[in-house]
Amino acid sequence: MLKSMKLSTEQINLLLDESKNHRCEPYDCCVQLVGIADLPSQFGEFQICALVSPCDGKEHTAIIKGDIVNKENVLVRVHSECLTGDVMGSKRCDCREQLLESLKRIQEEGQGALLYLRQEGRNIGLTEKIKAYALQDKGLDTIEANVALGWQPDQRDYGVAAHILRTLGMTSIRLLTNNPDKVRQLSNHGIIITERVPLIIETNEYNQAYLETKAQKTGHLLGDKAKVVDVTEVLSHSSDSIDK
Ligand SMILES: [Zn+2]
Ligand SMILES: [Zn+2]
Repeated sequence: MLKSMKLSTEQINLLLDESKNHRCEPYDCCVQLVGIADLPSQFGEFQICALVSPCDGKEHTAIIKGDIVNKENVLVRVHSECLTGDVMGSKRCDCREQLLESLKRIQEEGQGALLYLRQEGRNIGLTEKIKAYALQDKGLDTIEANVALGWQPDQRDYGVAAHILRTLGMTSIRLLTNNPDKVRQLSNHGIIITERVPLIIETNEYNQAYLETKAQKTGHLLGDKAKVVDVTEVLSHSSDSIDK
């Protein structure tokens, strides 16, 4: 069956109407879909969805490809904003590479979604992240630096992401991630994940230590665990990671 290129105007109007009349409890973790527009990019033809949540008051977006409504096994990336990596091309992390690779894979598949969550610096914000970088310049690792500033190692919450996936009507997903905590949280929020899709990016001299810390301290599925795709097995690795 030929995959449909994008959501039709009728489908968009239906989703917007549903969202306008939707209120869930607790309301403060609800999400409203407020607009969908075409987004041709260097990767292909996409559509971009504007989403707002009283949960964090932030403007989240989802970049979608094809007709994902009521579809199973949709290829999904849940990406947290990283201004230094995504926009400035920083080599301190692998965010930009993961972002671009995800868009490329979704384009190749002809169907999928990338959620772009405004959770900069594992949700400590840009200023705090730069302060954490300064501590890392003095020898702390990425986890130690966040903790030294009074934060949890990872402040992110994927409740809003789970709601966005439901708002856009996907029934189950294949998740592009190396982070078992993301798989665990989304599953706990009721999202059916049928497969974990590895997103392996080549390391460089600047992000190698950062990625090793993620593998050792937060259970990221890198190195010998990079090929694990079974969700039950991924979740078994999540339990020995740092608990939020
Ligand atoms: Zn809601
Ligand atoms: Zn980054």
